[in-house]
Amino acid sequence: MVTIIVTSSAVAIALAAVAYRRSRVMLAWSGALALHAFTYGLFVLRGQISDLISILLANVALVSGLTLFVEGILLFQQRRARHWLIWLPVVVLGLSFSFLLDAMQARLVISGVICAGLTATALITLIQRRHETSGRGQYILMTGFLFATLIFLARIVGTLTGQMELATFLANNQIQTLTFLTAIIDLTLLSIGMVLMIHERAEHELFQNREILRQQNATLKDYSDELKDANRKLEALSITDGLTGLYNRRHFDEVLAAEWARARRAGEALVILMIDIDLFKRYNDCYGHQAGDDCLIKVAGALQGGARRSGDMSARYGGEEFVVIASDTDLVQAKVLGESLCQAVESMEIPHAQSPFGKVTVSIGVAAMIPGGETSAEALVFSADEALYRAKNAGRNQVAVG
Ligand code: GH3
Ligand code: MG
Ligand code: MG
Repeated sequence: MVTIIVTSSAVAIALAAVAYRRSRVMLAWSGALALHAFTYGLFVLRGQISDLISILLANVALVSGLTLFVEGILLFQQRRARHWLIWLPVVVLGLSFSFLLDAMQARLVISGVICAGLTATALITLIQRRHETSGRGQYILMTGFLFATLIFLARIVGTLTGQMELATFLANNQIQTLTFLTAIIDLTLLSIGMVLMIHERAEHELFQNREILRQQNATLKDYSDELKDANRKLEALSITDGLTGLYNRRHFDEVLAAEWARARRAGEALVILMIDIDLFKRYNDCYGHQAGDDCLIKVAGALQGGARRSGDMSARYGGEEFVVIASDTDLVQAKVLGESLCQAVESMEIPHAQSPFGKVTVSIGVAAMIPGGETSAEALVFSADEALYRAKNAGRNQVAVG
């Protein structure tokens, strides 16, 4: 008995210390064990204290302890419980014992039935939800409650068949000995089972949380990839001319500034070609604005196809004007490039009835500059524009060098 008291108390205190403010389930079970210890404490004092306390209080404590066990299991399973029904046996036992203080056999049967009922309830509750409960700790707990149920049943049978020594509670008969032995084994099983169940659930939840985290990370990565993709598209859009697909003016300005700085560092010349469609106003007037747009797209394609060297960059400068930054070249080569671009547009043979050439043509102004103290990128553009003006004045469909 002392072993039971000491073991129950120790486990109860340990559980309570760990569970405090963390696990209501463990607190309930710790309370159950504490009541268990208290019960046996009162049993030990049988004869030394009044029967009322020793019998009535001890049995109420015993049944309350078992009820707390059941409450703990229901809490663990997160079930809604009808608490009045769960605690009803405690009331029934308390009332009936008050009237049966002198009828030991009746008391033994009543307490046996109630205790067996409670441990069986605990067992059934565990079995019902065994699939939802992770781990194997629950089976240890089930074994414990099965033992307890069997021993309570054995006590009832023993009482009814007169095998229990009625007169002395501490008498050394087989059923009492078996009861205590089972109680110790049971206590160990229940304690291990409870701790394992809680541990295994925590482990399971940790695993699930990790899984959720992993999925969330994957989703986040998808979003981030999508965002990067969208950003790339947006960036491409922001530097592209909507109609022709060439780089737009804004991007040209940026690249020109960067190339100007690079050429300044390298002490190299920077060459640009300013390209303008000839008599395009007339083309629009003759064929309509939509046809004008289609023509712009075709000319843009021819220019891009013609200035293919890596480092060459074609952009729509505005309206029917285009610009090419020619990399790693000189004026002579740039003039050759300009002429090939004129040829490329002309060879598309886009009819232009209002042009003396009968087809769409372009004029090109070429300019080169070595970035130095007084010069600027704007001056280079201005110079190319001047050359273009000369090409127009000289009869269009040709290249002029600034
Ligand atoms: P020049 O040979 O001297 O360059 O004569 P031009 O008619 O080409 O020159 P001008 O500057 O007089 O006219 C340019 C025309 O280009 C006017 C405008 O209607 C047309 N244009 C400018 N941007 C667009 C566009 O996006 N789509 C269309 N369809 N036409 C445009
Ligand atoms: Mg123009
Ligand atoms: Mg023009």
